[in-house]
Amino acid sequence: MATIIDGKAIAAQVRERIKKDTQRLLSLSGIVPGLAVILVGNDPASKIYVRNKKSACEDVGFKSFEYLLPPETPEAVLVDLIEKLNKDPEVHGILCQLPLPKHIDEKSVIQAISPLKDVDAFHPVNVGKIMTGEYSFLPCTPAGVMELITSTGIEVEGKKCVVVGRSNIVGKPMAMLLLHSNGTVTICHSKTPDLKKECLEADILVVATGRAKMITGDMVKPGAVVIDVGMDRDENGRLCGDVDFEEVSKVAGYITPVPGGVGPMTIAMLMKNTYTAAKLTVVK
Ligand code: NAP
Repeated sequence: MATIIDGKAIAAQVRERIKKDTQRLLSLSGIVPGLAVILVGNDPASKIYVRNKKSACEDVGFKSFEYLLPPETPEAVLVDLIEKLNKDPEVHGILCQLPLPKHIDEKSVIQAISPLKDVDAFHPVNVGKIMTGEYSFLPCTPAGVMELITSTGIEVEGKKCVVVGRSNIVGKPMAMLLLHSNGTVTICHSKTPDLKKECLEADILVVATGRAKMITGDMVKPGAVVIDVGMDRDENGRLCGDVDFEEVSKVAGYITPVPGGVGPMTIAMLMKNTYTAAKLTVVK
């Protein structure tokens, strides 16, 4: 039976560290990290994410600034707000909750955020830095996954790593971080001819497809580390991952649950990036 990687507990440790670092930053420089979160529209899931981010900020001692804009907000108004926040010295991180309404071009909005305040690390400048390994911010979900892998004590170096999914926010940066840690990395996607064969070779398997329970027990190498990024609904409407936990936990060496695995780490890494952004204003 696999050891369960407790994302909630590991995220709590990360947040505790950030809380202490924040107090030290305040006493040394008088700076309190500030995160601005913008939500356009009324998407219920996005509202929950924004609320969770606000309470995480309060927990670690950050200032949080919330901007709830109506769904019909013109793109120019949103970009204006971002430009104001780019200049606001109390704001160190800016996050625009995705997805945005259809009339707003996501790319233009991401590019309007100053790369120095881009705590999601979605701006092309930060994406480029991830490729070269010279980054200040890492995208929160892949960064959280790396911490979860580290927590197992298993070295990435020399391991065969398989990432299933190639999105810009999870799959691609995930593969790059594993590569920077000297893993031998394969990226799979919906056009991969024999997914089972690829997955069976993985010592470390990271799955981010948005397809409920698609990774089954017969697709996993015995003893592998299995990280499930998915946040899906099963046939009964219950939250589940991309990995069939019941089957795979009998084969894997380590496995993340859903919920309580990658999700809490994503928010912890957002706090870490915001702290880093604030600290960089002192170091500059
Ligand atoms: P996405 O943009 O929809 O990308 C999904 C990827 O999975 C695509 O690259 C797609 O391949 C691949 N894929 C889909 N079906 C596949 C199949 N049958 N076999 C192999 N590959 C397949 O999704 P995302 O934004 O990366 O998110 C993935 C999941 O992670 C979602 O459930 C999302 O909710 C969750 N998520 C969780 C967190 C968290 O904090 N826990 C954060 C972000 C995302 P193609 O490119 O060929 O289409």
